[in-house]
Amino acid sequence: MAVIETKGLTKYFGEVKAVDGIDLSIQEGELMVILGPSGCGKTTLMRMIAGLEKPTGGEVMIAGENVTELPPRARPIAMVFQSYALYPHMTVFNNIAFPLKARGGFSKEELKEKVEWAASILGIERLLARKPRELSGGERQRVALSRALAKEPGVLLLDEPLSNLDAKLRASARDELQRFQRRLGITTIFVTHDQIEALGMGDRIVVMSGGKIVQVGTPRDVYHDSSNVFVAQFLGSPGMNILEMDDFLVGFRPEQFTLKTHETESDGQKTFSFSVTRVEYLGADQLIYGNIEGYEREYHVVAKFSSESTSIVEANHTYEFVVNRDQLRYFEKQAGSRIEPRSF
Ligand code: ATP
Repeated sequence: MAVIETKGLTKYFGEVKAVDGIDLSIQEGELMVILGPSGCGKTTLMRMIAGLEKPTGGEVMIAGENVTELPPRARPIAMVFQSYALYPHMTVFNNIAFPLKARGGFSKEELKEKVEWAASILGIERLLARKPRELSGGERQRVALSRALAKEPGVLLLDEPLSNLDAKLRASARDELQRFQRRLGITTIFVTHDQIEALGMGDRIVVMSGGKIVQVGTPRDVYHDSSNVFVAQFLGSPGMNILEMDDFLVGFRPEQFTLKTHETESDGQKTFSFSVTRVEYLGADQLIYGNIEGYEREYHVVAKFSSESTSIVEANHTYEFVVNRDQLRYFEKQAGSRIEPRSF
């Protein structure tokens, strides 16, 4: 059953159309990621689902009820936003307890039980007596998440909740978040502009651009079967290589662009002459930058090899590179939509 549904959800800020007719359906227990570049409308969409922003048009349904006109507190949701605010003068315990006290109706024991439960999910029981200033950034983040969980919401809305963490902490927080989300089976919407985070966490991903949905699918769908050239280039690090032909675009991913050898040679491959300009060592991987030659114009592309790869390529040399034909993706030039294979 869909726990959250939006129908034609639209928001104008004056002349700016921030969100443009979004139809979305999120299933019970699902972790749905909303991914897109800065300014594409992710936060505005989330704020409308939360009730913090009044839609210009459309509807929000939560658990089968039309909540479009309801204030945030009347919706069965909890939120953690990028700029989560903890109360500096309160202990961690009181920070987590605050929304429960505000709701009222809990005995002291019940409050204690709920706070301890929420703190244990994020592993911060030993911090309950501290004040926020005595915590690291990552610990503060966990307090904010515990506070949201303590309300036992039907839906958790997270807007870039990990953006204040350094890369290493971010990876472990991601893991933690995903584990408790799975364990509690809590329907979650997670907003990010970070495609690695999106691919790693989402059951499904909504890719947005210019206030609209470009594609909705599993991480595998959106990565391997991008429905649009925008999605193909936005996902992946680096994104898909695109060659512009007369009336269409053809693309392949950097890791699919490999050195031709006698062992790998086969009929199912397209061969390119690749003049290497630079090799960038990145630890586990290396990126090979260069140009594809032999067409009317030159195309800058990049290949991605494992650093352990036995294929050795050097700058200022030209090689034969191949892509499996079934890995080539074709897009129409105007709107960028996926099309059937063409010859080139
Ligand atoms: P980011 O990743 O940078 O947070 P976003 O995808 O969350 O971006 P939104 O914050 O939803 O994007 O903004 C969408 C568009 O609406 C942008 O063009 C933004 O400038 C505009 N916008 C957002 N809030 C307001 C506001 N209160 N008044 C006017 N314009 C706004």
